[in-house]
Amino acid sequence: MTRADLVITDIGELATMASEPVPRIGPAMRELGRIPRAAIAIEGDRFVFVGTEARCKREVRLRSGGSRWSAGGGTVVPGFVDPHTHVLFAGDRVAEIDLKIAGASYGEIARRGGGIFQTVRATRRASANELLQSTEARLRRMAAMGTTTCEVKSGYALTPAGELRLLSLIPVLARRTGLRLVPTFLGAQAVPPEYTERPDDYVSALIEKALPAIARDHLADFCDAFCEPGFFNVEQTERLLHAARAVGLGLKVHADEFVRSGGAALAARLGCRSAEHLLESSDGDRRVLASAGVTAVLLPVTPFASFAHSSSPGREMVDAGVPVAVGTDLSPNSWVESIPVVLSHSVYSARLTPAEALTAATVNAAYAIGLSDEAGTIAVGRSADFVAFDVPSADHIPYRFGLTPDRVYRRGVRVPPAGDRAT
Ligand code: ZN
Repeated sequence: MTRADLVITDIGELATMASEPVPRIGPAMRELGRIPRAAIAIEGDRFVFVGTEARCKREVRLRSGGSRWSAGGGTVVPGFVDPHTHVLFAGDRVAEIDLKIAGASYGEIARRGGGIFQTVRATRRASANELLQSTEARLRRMAAMGTTTCEVKSGYALTPAGELRLLSLIPVLARRTGLRLVPTFLGAQAVPPEYTERPDDYVSALIEKALPAIARDHLADFCDAFCEPGFFNVEQTERLLHAARAVGLGLKVHADEFVRSGGAALAARLGCRSAEHLLESSDGDRRVLASAGVTAVLLPVTPFASFAHSSSPGREMVDAGVPVAVGTDLSPNSWVESIPVVLSHSVYSARLTPAEALTAATVNAAYAIGLSDEAGTIAVGRSADFVAFDVPSADHIPYRFGLTPDRVYRRGVRVPPAGDRAT
């Protein structure tokens, strides 16, 4: 008999995501490990039972003082994994919407000193406390919408010391919110104004002044770079990523978002863990990503929030055999905190099936940030991170636009709903 201190019964459909292989590729992305009429049991912060309700009745005994909750025939899925966020910033860019509607692109707004550079100025000025408070509030809203694991990029200081300061705040945010946070060094998000004429020198500064400290103090798991004309070219990106690999960091690249920059091909050549955005990638790029096993991290809300004419190539990537993950890309440019909203865009903009979209936001997203062993699946022994929705099957979660979870649990503890400030 298995003892548990929390039992969830009457789950109409449980999508465990718990089968091999990881990451899921092609038709395997539709395998959700569904169990109808299911139950789960938790002891401490781990799942101790995952299976049918009938088996649970026979095999699980609730401890005295433990609690039982009926999901009312609803659906339970793993806690969402957001593999791509720029959540750590100060200020906002609400005024930019008018410029975007008038036809200004992300790059044009940035060249006029706005856009990312406005956020850089606000972030440089902000105290650590201000940054912690505003970012914590965003992370708590993300958690209320079902995110239990989240990547966090630096990238709004654009000086070696400032980037180190941002990275040093991420463990504090993890402690305060209880979220599992994966830090990524994105000092090469843009060339800062001080280096406009000499981007190579900025790359050298990141390599010489930031990477050694990041490695010494374990401040990041990954290094990312914005490989795009007007930002960093392929050679500069490659030089930085080579140096990052040499100090033990995993590699990611913002690739082929505005134009076909060669970022996807670079990611394949370097064997990066992931290439991100990929709006302008070609069939050939998809073939090399597939054969190199690079995960495509797609951010389907971003082109929508940028009034872009393109949409994320989700269908094309899955059909080409590229492992696909999806994330929010939460930033002042595309302020989306909700993975359920991203799931709907993954279907309606990127043309993933609902099942593929769920795989992309759980097991494949965990793979994209190196956490396959800890996050993205519901299985005995795993961290008890899960989300319950009042819908009859997992497919309804992307199908209904921007659904709100019924309940979210992280490490076996219920996450307060949005608006509830109690912790
Ligand atoms: Zn991004």
